[in-house]
Amino acid sequence: MGKVYLVGAGPGDPELLTLKAHRIISRADVILYDALVNREILNFAKEDAVKIYVGKRIGRHSLPQEEINRLLHRFALTYDTVVRLKGGDPFVFGRGGEEYLYLRERGIEVEVVPGITSAVGAPSSINVPLTHRGTSSSFAVVSGHPGMEVDWKGLSQADTLVILMGVKRRREIAKELISSGRDPDLPVVFIEKATTEDQREVFSTLGEVAHNPPEVNPPAVMVVGRVVELSDLKSVKVSREDLLS
Ligand code: SAH
Repeated sequence: MGKVYLVGAGPGDPELLTLKAHRIISRADVILYDALVNREILNFAKEDAVKIYVGKRIGRHSLPQEEINRLLHRFALTYDTVVRLKGGDPFVFGRGGEEYLYLRERGIEVEVVPGITSAVGAPSSINVPLTHRGTSSSFAVVSGHPGMEVDWKGLSQADTLVILMGVKRRREIAKELISSGRDPDLPVVFIEKATTEDQREVFSTLGEVAHNPPEVNPPAVMVVGRVVELSDLKSVKVSREDLLS
């Protein structure tokens, strides 16, 4: 019987893969990967490794979770090394916990290989520190996915908020945050396709997102808090545009 590795692929840049993830991918017999996994990472696999796309997109599930669980189970009975490759960290909003439990309940050996979550990697990549002495002593990572109930008021203790899967509902989220007491002037940044060649940042404020939301394309990480002001990228961008105009 084989072993299943739940491997974090990091936020995008293949160089942000851990050495351990790289080693396990390079000897995998089967790799089941998601939409958010950078395809370049698959080049590290053996030529004859079976690579299966099981990605999901909002409203268009290419494979239901139950089906992915069953596939992992079946492959574990046939192959030695099965890799379930997931964007970021496998246990941050990736349903990795469900896959882990499903396999463990069936007696399959599972090892989790942590990855750099986009929640942390995306802000770091644009020089936004999630904690900063005197400005932010805590951060919370929250799902903005419709259907996932979030107690926005309860989050008021966290200085910095990092919202995943929140692009579609950004206006509602900003409104919720303002009505639960956050300052409409609080800076916000959306980081699209972080750590890839197509990365783009959209700077705004909570009030603007609530009333006149800027255009943002998923996948993006939304960061709300004073720490966003610390990014030097914002001023660099502005002056670059000024130079061009
Ligand atoms: N396990 C993943 C998160 C899965 S939920 C992780 O740890 O990063 C999917 C959400 O992650 C997306 O909706 C988006 O908010 C965020 N995300 C993942 N990769 C991203 C990237 N490269 N750039 C921006 N956001 C990303």
